[in-house]
Amino acid sequence: MNIVVGSGPSGVAAASALLDAGRPVLMLDIGRELEPERRRSSRSFRFSGKTEAGDDPARKLVFGSAYPYLSDREAGLIQKGTKCLASGGKGGLSAVWGASVLPFRDEEIADWPFPAAALHDHYEKTGAILDISGAADGLAERFPFYAPPRPPLNASLQARAVLERFSSGAEALKAAGFAFGRARHAVDSAACEYDGTCLSGCARGAIWNAARAVEALKKRPGFEYRGGVRVLSIEERPDGVRLHVAREGASRAVHDGAKLFLACGPLATARLVCGSFGAPAEGLPLLSQPYFVLPLLLDRDVPGAPEERLHTLAQVYLELDDKEVSKHLVHLQIYGHNEVIADRLDRAAAWAGPFSGAVAGHFAPRLLAIQGYLHSGEGIPVTITAEGRGEDCRLTVKAGDASATKAAVGRVAAKIARHSADLGFAPLSFLRKVGLPGEGNHAGGSFPMKKAPAAWQTDPLGRLHGHERVHLVDSSVLPSLPASTFTYAVMANASRIASEAA
Ligand SMILES: Cc1cc2nc3c(=O)[nH]c(=O)nc-3n(C[C@H](O)[C@H](O)[C@H](O)COP(=O)(O)OP(=O)(O)OC[C@H]3O[C@@H](n4cnc5c(N)ncnc54)[C@H](O)[C@@H]3O)c2cc1C
Ligand code: SF4
Repeated sequence: MNIVVGSGPSGVAAASALLDAGRPVLMLDIGRELEPERRRSSRSFRFSGKTEAGDDPARKLVFGSAYPYLSDREAGLIQKGTKCLASGGKGGLSAVWGASVLPFRDEEIADWPFPAAALHDHYEKTGAILDISGAADGLAERFPFYAPPRPPLNASLQARAVLERFSSGAEALKAAGFAFGRARHAVDSAACEYDGTCLSGCARGAIWNAARAVEALKKRPGFEYRGGVRVLSIEERPDGVRLHVAREGASRAVHDGAKLFLACGPLATARLVCGSFGAPAEGLPLLSQPYFVLPLLLDRDVPGAPEERLHTLAQVYLELDDKEVSKHLVHLQIYGHNEVIADRLDRAAAWAGPFSGAVAGHFAPRLLAIQGYLHSGEGIPVTITAEGRGEDCRLTVKAGDASATKAAVGRVAAKIARHSADLGFAPLSFLRKVGLPGEGNHAGGSFPMKKAPAAWQTDPLGRLHGHERVHLVDSSVLPSLPASTFTYAVMANASRIASEAA
């Protein structure tokens, strides 16, 4: 029996590949689910901004619930200058994700310890799990669809205005290093109702969630799922692995398996590895994609924009390849009117007293926002140190100097400002916010894959140096984090490891 720990995107990708290879799978998972009373009221749920958010009031919730997240105390984390997340939910963080998907470009991972082409089949397999929707447009040459996509989600009025403007300035934008296209999503576009609640919960279930994939896996022979199980520590034995677990409402237990595939997300995986096998005194690295939010003002009105029925996920992708800005590709996701922008605009307009409604109403059709990501090579250095063994293991996650990252984000904003005439919008740079490491939700690389791994590194099958039967399959093993989204490549890599290990 192979054991997969975690039911998030990397867990379901690994489990699916093992089943494809004819290997039975036991999936163990903390596996919390949406509270029944919230599930019942989800169809009438509307964003209120006043819902429980656990450790962080800015944390994205699902129907007002923080169930997908472990608190820092539960996750054994002490964070110093970082804002990393760990999940204890069925489906992992895909219960709250933005469903933006792009593969990594082959040239961005040329330094990984296997040919980039080894991921192509697994983009196809995991693309089928994610059921990607998108348009074969200007991005398709650089970022292929590995399987025919579903039709894209309808673009909003603002997005259409942006894309028209990009198209009319396409030559100049291309010469400046920009490429653009419709956003791609792991969303069932046929099921979308365009009710605009994507950031607070999708009652239609149109947004892909790995918990749904677990339900599909349960129908396959050889698959068993056990929720309510927290793995506390791992033992590797000559003939297999033994997991020590705590079961909700029951006594402790052990599970034995032939091979283990850890898919707990980078910090929960690091805690299990360090708590079970010890930790390096100098600490482990944690890579993250630098992340920033940059509000934009369109240079013209888009009548009807705030009132239309729309989805509020990313609308447009803008990719920037300019070595003067970054050695690597910069990935920019453009969002239009949504509940978060509307809420912030209302608060920003409060200074106008009785006229605040009119001020907010004037700017609403013209306001957009970029969520931007850079390659982890531009990221703030982060070190993880571990103390204690087993369930007592605690990780201290500490950020270093952010000045180089802030400078790189500044170069991106300046580039956008220089090309605002062709882009059709101007950045509101004074409102720019650079995220702390982890805030962009794309982190990993603590046990990087190497051809000849040293201690605390992994081989191309995600196996920790000195361990034959423990495969890490989540983002922990990525040698670098190119900017172009994240989870699709993490899943493709998990699928590759599991099918090669099988
Ligand atoms: C708000 C938000 C928006 C995002 N938007 C995007 C996006 O648009 N595009 C994108 O590419 N990515 C996005 N992400 C990131 C994406 O959600 C993660 O990359 C992805 O969920 C990682 O998958 P994973 O399976 O490796 O880990 P996780 O999703 O973290 O899942 C971990 C799993 O492990 C289980 N687990 C943990 N510890 C234990 C233990 N000790 N014992 C048993 N089980 C355990 C948990 O229950 C959970 O099922 C977003 C994330 C957030 C929070
Ligand atoms: S608009 Fe968003 S929340 Fe509503 S159905 Fe579509 S994807 Fe789901």
